[in-house]
Amino acid sequence: MQRYSDLMRKERRSIAFVPTMGFLHEGHLSLMKKGLEIADIVVASIFVNPAQFGPSEDFGSYPRNIEGDLKLLKKEGVDIVFLPSEKDIYPDGFQTCVELKNLPNHLCGLSRPVFFKGIASVVSKLFNIVKPHYAVFGKKDYQQFLVIKQMVKDLNFDIEIVGAPIVREKDGLAMSSRNSYLNPEQRRHALSLYRSLKMAGEILQSGERNSSKIINEAAAIIKSYPDTEIDYIKICDQENLSDMEIIDRPALMALAVKVGKTRLIDNMILTAQMDSLMSEG
Ligand code: AMP
Repeated sequence: MQRYSDLMRKERRSIAFVPTMGFLHEGHLSLMKKGLEIADIVVASIFVNPAQFGPSEDFGSYPRNIEGDLKLLKKEGVDIVFLPSEKDIYPDGFQTCVELKNLPNHLCGLSRPVFFKGIASVVSKLFNIVKPHYAVFGKKDYQQFLVIKQMVKDLNFDIEIVGAPIVREKDGLAMSSRNSYLNPEQRRHALSLYRSLKMAGEILQSGERNSSKIINEAAAIIKSYPDTEIDYIKICDQENLSDMEIIDRPALMALAVKVGKTRLIDNMILTAQMDSLMSEG
């Protein structure tokens, strides 16, 4: 992989990289499209990274379909698919990791303590292997997007991080490989995440600026669906993820909810109409 990238770089061809864990859907493919738009060569990787799963999480059962994924990537026009083995990434004696101090102390980092350390470490390795000019990440995993941007800045990776919008099903459910765990009933309950975000946006537009009130409304919507368990609902600063009590500037509303045993995440940027903000002084 490194030799191929060296060759492309020598030929002055730009490389966009899209790391994934496979079981691809339209959300992933939108990142491939973005890559094709901004660079000459698109490299996708598929690697289910054991280091980012906790001991009681779903590493063993994470959905996999390499044949199907390869077909989709070929159809999309992706140039290279990098499929490392676990031993390629973590050979015997491997001992280095990358850990961020602050960003993981919020949102998903609190309920998934090894998650961002696992991600920052594997993405660093993949960056050094693929040597891209650009790397594309979905804002569905908004905290991951911030973690990678911060890591690239802190460690001087010469890579431009490009964020891509959340791709949703027709009814609003954010696409996710983990949606395949849901039975038809749970699939209906999973819509509670998007519905609560949308409602939050509407409450904000109607003039409410108090985060706790909006969060309580969102929680009530989710609780009205059976078989749901809220991990967190937060309204926070979109750069450093610290809680925002009053929404006086665009804010990130992010949530994680278990539907049955499946943990789902979603988010939305809440933006109040500037004129209504200004009229309030
Ligand atoms: P994953 O395979 O879940 O690790 O995701 C690989 C990349 O695809 C990450 O950058 C995700 O943020 C992105 N991604 C996953 N689902 C979506 C979606 N519904 N919309 C946009 N990007 C997504």
